[in-house]
Amino acid sequence: MIVVMTPESTEAQLNHVVQLVTEMGLTTHIIRGTDRTVVAAVGDKRNTDKTAIENCGGVEKIVPILAPFKVASKEVKQEKTIVELTPGGATVGGKELAIIGGPCAVESRQQIIDVAHAIKASGAVGLRGGAFKPRTSPYSFQGLAEKGLEYLAEAGQATGLAVFTEVLTMEHCKMVGNYADVLQIGARNMQNFMLLNAAGQQSKPVLLKRGMSATMEEFLLAAEYIINAGNPNVILCERGVRTFEQYCRNSLNLSIIPAIQRVSHLPIIADPSHGTGHAYMVEPASKAAIAAGADGLIIEVHPDPERACSDAGQQLTPAAFDELMQKVKRVANAVDRQLEAGHKQAEPAPN
Ligand code: PEP
Ligand code: MN
Repeated sequence: MIVVMTPESTEAQLNHVVQLVTEMGLTTHIIRGTDRTVVAAVGDKRNTDKTAIENCGGVEKIVPILAPFKVASKEVKQEKTIVELTPGGATVGGKELAIIGGPCAVESRQQIIDVAHAIKASGAVGLRGGAFKPRTSPYSFQGLAEKGLEYLAEAGQATGLAVFTEVLTMEHCKMVGNYADVLQIGARNMQNFMLLNAAGQQSKPVLLKRGMSATMEEFLLAAEYIINAGNPNVILCERGVRTFEQYCRNSLNLSIIPAIQRVSHLPIIADPSHGTGHAYMVEPASKAAIAAGADGLIIEVHPDPERACSDAGQQLTPAAFDELMQKVKRVANAVDRQLEAGHKQAEPAPN
């Protein structure tokens, strides 16, 4: 339920409501809107005494939350969530689009540093790269693990790009948080509820990718776990779903973008690399995603895609990425968005 406070209510009244609701066994989330504050109270409602809450000073009304997802829902928070990738840095969810680039996997120090400089020059604000790779086959390249995180952090520092990398286990959340700016939860782990909880208990933003067979409701309920555990900074990512179509690696489901924007305040970006599986499809799919209202893109870029250790067929060269950025910029302007301020900005001076 949502406890709506009156515009005149005081901080003390708000604290009292929070205390009472917490004593009833519910989790509270305070959302401060432009004209009033609301308390979203979620959990098992069996011991809830609504009248007692209604009678508290400063309470205007209690409204039930109808959607199955609560704190991810627009019913609780109308204003769009804007996630800062780094404190005071680039954001996702505002008027400006966030473009993240980088290889499928970190393969060497030189590889990630070269890609980082290239994509930064093209206007990206984030650097992606897997250090722990969730591979279908146990015989495929599994990633450089902590060494890969070190290389990523160095590339992030050298360029000022926000570093995105995947966590596979609960234990990774703390370790990866020491190196990266944003923790990625991959499609295969979208319903790993213990992992979602762990990501919710740490402070870095989370990029949550849609499971390959997840419905919109399941996707938003997964986001709900992270927010409910204490972390409101969730960025959703549509990365394609499995369908009967074999021609593309996945079917990029762009219609979920306006659907999510109708029911949730969370930002959503698109991954046209895993969403199509073919390098030549990445640019048209990127333009379509931005036209459909995506808040950003995450794109695989490799200095030498033919020799990539994973996902060779879908990675762009830095030159192709640069061209894509020019095209995407025009589409962004056409739909009244712009690329993040970092676009074509100079890199930080070496120290
Ligand atoms: C990735 O982005 O590296 C990845 C493994 O993607 P997904 O989880 O969407 O398959
Ligand atoms: Mn990949």
